[in-house]
Amino acid sequence: MKAAVFEGNGKLTIKDVSEPKLTKATDALIRVKGVGICGTDLHILQVPPAHPAKLNNILGHEFTGEIVELGSEVQGFSVGERVLIDPHPGCGVCDECRRGYPDNCIPLYEECEEPGHPNTIGIFSPGAYTKYVIVPRQSLYKIDPKVPVKIAALAEPLSCVVNATEKLKVTPGQYVVILGAGPIGLLFTMLMKANGASKIIVSEPAKFRREAAIGCGADIVVDPKQEDISEVVAREMGKGADVCIEAVGPLLPLAIMLVRAGGKVLQFGHDETVKPAIPVGVMLKKEVEIYGAFIGKQSFEKTVRIMESGKLPLEKVVSHTLPLSRIHEGIDKLRKGEGLKIIIMPEDA
Ligand SMILES: [Zn+2]
Ligand SMILES: [Zn+2]
Repeated sequence: MKAAVFEGNGKLTIKDVSEPKLTKATDALIRVKGVGICGTDLHILQVPPAHPAKLNNILGHEFTGEIVELGSEVQGFSVGERVLIDPHPGCGVCDECRRGYPDNCIPLYEECEEPGHPNTIGIFSPGAYTKYVIVPRQSLYKIDPKVPVKIAALAEPLSCVVNATEKLKVTPGQYVVILGAGPIGLLFTMLMKANGASKIIVSEPAKFRREAAIGCGADIVVDPKQEDISEVVAREMGKGADVCIEAVGPLLPLAIMLVRAGGKVLQFGHDETVKPAIPVGVMLKKEVEIYGAFIGKQSFEKTVRIMESGKLPLEKVVSHTLPLSRIHEGIDKLRKGEGLKIIIMPEDA
């Protein structure tokens, strides 16, 4: 089967690899139907890399597929069912999983060759830029096959955003600022609107993405290269936002400045190469609550429900679908800021 393999130094090569064979009774063999190109993939393929990955590994961690074969101990699923895949599931039995933090699952981190990172399928173990992939049973979530593949392939990023959204407890009438309108910023925009935010301001330099933000529920979009976001927030929200979501990476100090007293800030943008200087005085005087969120935490069941309900315009996050043979074209588009979420359809390759 053809697969997109990470060969180091920014190189992603489409090559023939052998099909995986099910060996563990607790695993399932999945035929990949659709897989999203993630910002993390771009970081992995940067030179030097901005995110580690296992050398000679098949990438692709945001995917949906169909069950082809089940290990003898996998209960509750059957061959042919459509599933969403949690690419970094908790083991369910370690101390962190049992106290409700499967995103900090001890073996999930210990099994990873890179200290401080979860052993994500498609980053550190064989992923979905190919035809078949093996996943553990705790990765599987059934989804109605009526949900289009390109929507179902958003499951992993949406599960992360659902997890983060729960912390913020946005209530009707609140004002929200979102920094960044990549796929993550857009998913936040939809969920904030669904939570009842009265005004949502989205700051994003790429015109294409600002327009998408309007379609996802933003009331006001700002080009931070042309306008001062602080002035826009002062004009539109008075003393500041109730909630500011950082979906870029280095903008935590700005996010703290943009909320009003008692406001909440969420750091979601992930760039470990930056060390932003926190305005401590402002933070403590305004009693700002700062939250961090990363991968999903028991949020896949809710993700399935959101997708099956059809209530959110999730299709607005997907700008292109491409066959595996054109994955490099998709990566180039994202690098040039010409795409949102690009879904690869491996079986078309
Ligand atoms: Zn991702
Ligand atoms: Zn665990």
